[in-house]
Amino acid sequence: MLSFSSHEEIITNRKELFERTKWTDATSHLQNRVKGEDLSKYFLLTDSEKIGIRDTIRLNVSSTPYYLSLSDPFDPDCPIRRMIVPNSSETVLSPEESPDPLHEERLSPVRGLTHMYPNRVLLFSNHSCSVYCRHCMRGRKVSASSERMSKEELEVAIDYIRKTESIEDVVISGGDPLNLSDTRIDWILGELESIPHVKICRLGTRNPVTLPFRINQALCEIIEKHNTDRLSIFCNTQFNHPKECTPDAKHAILALLKAGVSVGNQAVLLKGINDDPETMLVLHKKLLEMRVRAYYLYDPELIPGSRGFRTPLGKGIEIIRYMRGKIAGMGIPQFVNDLPGGGGKITLSPDWYLGYEKSTRKHAFVSAVTGKIHYSFEPEGSEEFVYKEFQEDMGGMD
Ligand SMILES: *Cc1c(COP(=O)(O)O)cnc(C)c1O
Ligand code: SF4
Repeated sequence: MLSFSSHEEIITNRKELFERTKWTDATSHLQNRVKGEDLSKYFLLTDSEKIGIRDTIRLNVSSTPYYLSLSDPFDPDCPIRRMIVPNSSETVLSPEESPDPLHEERLSPVRGLTHMYPNRVLLFSNHSCSVYCRHCMRGRKVSASSERMSKEELEVAIDYIRKTESIEDVVISGGDPLNLSDTRIDWILGELESIPHVKICRLGTRNPVTLPFRINQALCEIIEKHNTDRLSIFCNTQFNHPKECTPDAKHAILALLKAGVSVGNQAVLLKGINDDPETMLVLHKKLLEMRVRAYYLYDPELIPGSRGFRTPLGKGIEIIRYMRGKIAGMGIPQFVNDLPGGGGKITLSPDWYLGYEKSTRKHAFVSAVTGKIHYSFEPEGSEEFVYKEFQEDMGGMD
């Protein structure tokens, strides 16, 4: 049964939680995570949220005190709260949804590994995370203890990588690899470093956002030790909203950079959270201030119970169109759709190209700055490429 707390009780409960957590200690945050129905102590829940917590068909509900501290206890539209607290739309399975829309299992040669592209693999290293994001696209596995990867299973996956010489780049994901112990991370990175054909390793982690204190000195020393001539370590994290760009988060990013790790961001486009051009622009400006480059902006996957988060495809393109010209190019993500059915990722971008006029060898473009049509010319005598035809009346954008 859900209990109900008053305004005052919620404020007191939050204060107590934040006081009993050793604030810069990641272990203390993990021990004090707020789970499931206990959310009612820290949020004035709506009916929809109560139903969501009780009947979600998605992953477990859990947040670190740190991430919870960024959320609003009384506003159900708070973007951080929407990523922590389920609502009733998470209890509905829509006909187009499936647990594994990207066919990660079909493309799995051994447990925990997805091998879709010849030169890169995705390693599911761990089922657990610091916060269980409501929009997680890998909800079929994340948070389920049945999905725990034993050391033996990781050994089998690493063996596959070792004997498959086409693999140059290993994306370590989960779950969250940084929720593994330091010892286990040390071991995985050491194994990858010892494989001559593996040149790149990417840590997919949301800890800089949800538990920045996890990026502590001991971890950074381990990462730096394996970031060598043989192996280059990258980190892709997932900031989705400007509220997540805190001084603690920046501190974590700077520690990764000091360990020689290149950090990029993979945001997820989420209805009611960041599906607005100005929010996305501010997010990416703040990320650049934290020295994080934009990498991807993901269109949400067709996973069970995701209808509350999905946006029209045109929204992502509109956002990218808006950003061009207003921020450095390194702050503009590529809008990506990971195609259902195991088709891999494709990028979608606004079409600035209007077409070609053969008689004058003229290419027409619409400018992101002036909004007007601008021309450039094809070199004389080139017949190699065929372009769509430009018609004068196509006009620019206003
Ligand atoms: C996303 C993904 C990758 C990495 O893709 P990049 O475009 O290189 O970032 C690799 N394997 C699988 C299965 C993926 O889904
Ligand atoms: S941290 Fe990543 S894997 Fe974990 S719940 Fe969030 S989105 Fe999913």
